[in-house]
Amino acid sequence: MDSVTPVGRFAPTPSGRMHLGNVFAALIAWLSVKSQGGEMVLRMEDLDTQRTSEEYVRVLREDLTWLGLTWDRETPPQSRQTRVYDAYFEQLRDKGLLYPCYCTRSQLHSVNAPHLSDGTYVYPGTCRNLSQSERAAMGRNPAWRVRVPDRVWEVEDRIQGISRWNLATDCGDMVVRRADGVYVYQLAVTVDDGLAGVTEVVRGSDLLSSAPRQMYLQELFGFPHPEYAHVPMLLAPDGRRLSKRDRDLDLGQLRKVLHPQELIGALAFSAGLLDRPEPIGVWELAALFSWQKLQKEDFCLELPQLMEL
Ligand code: GLU
Repeated sequence: MDSVTPVGRFAPTPSGRMHLGNVFAALIAWLSVKSQGGEMVLRMEDLDTQRTSEEYVRVLREDLTWLGLTWDRETPPQSRQTRVYDAYFEQLRDKGLLYPCYCTRSQLHSVNAPHLSDGTYVYPGTCRNLSQSERAAMGRNPAWRVRVPDRVWEVEDRIQGISRWNLATDCGDMVVRRADGVYVYQLAVTVDDGLAGVTEVVRGSDLLSSAPRQMYLQELFGFPHPEYAHVPMLLAPDGRRLSKRDRDLDLGQLRKVLHPQELIGALAFSAGLLDRPEPIGVWELAALFSWQKLQKEDFCLELPQLMEL
């Protein structure tokens, strides 16, 4: 395969059925790659073994197949990548960028802790400069944080446009490994996308703030930056964002009342990719796909069959 073949990915968390918003993000990821003749990778993001299950892994594969969203290869689930992540963790240690953090959850989230206006917590560097003896006196397993530079990152997103981020003021030094030894999403995703040769990341706009964090880690690990597209969120009829926890419009329910081509057609129409809300298969839609047509604002899917749910 030559180096210009686009590589996209599905990175579902097997903690529940996909809801309509997850389906939409997966559809756009697939359309982008397949409209360019590229390759799709599937990866199960099951770091949180308390919330994920083999049953959901099975159902996710089955749901993607029902939709017609094929993948060309599957990379190992994150729960089996610990040894691989260890090697990247050691690279950060060798660069002198890691330090142990002993702060408890309640210390981190106390009323005195710094927060941005949107409620995001900014780590103030409490454990950044502890001495060896102070560390030894803590008597518990630390989480590990990577130091972040005071520097602006520009994220150029196909849908959201350009945004600028400074990790020092937007989030502070980032946890890369939790006190229980589990690696965090940001490190795992960066390593997995990098090793799989992913050239484009298409996912929900709720993950936009992860892009500069992942770009920083990509730079440290020597991976090229992928292209980013953070798709608009799907809203429930009352204007809320859909959530897996509320079992909002998940595929288990949708499959009872819809044919896959009806669902794809309705999503494509609401998202601006089709002129009329008519059933369509994913390959036919791939031939019509363009980023210019895609709706940029969050939207609510209008579909009469949803009233039956
Ligand atoms: N696993 C994440 C989710 O299911 C997606 C992460 C990503 O696309 O980077 O929401």
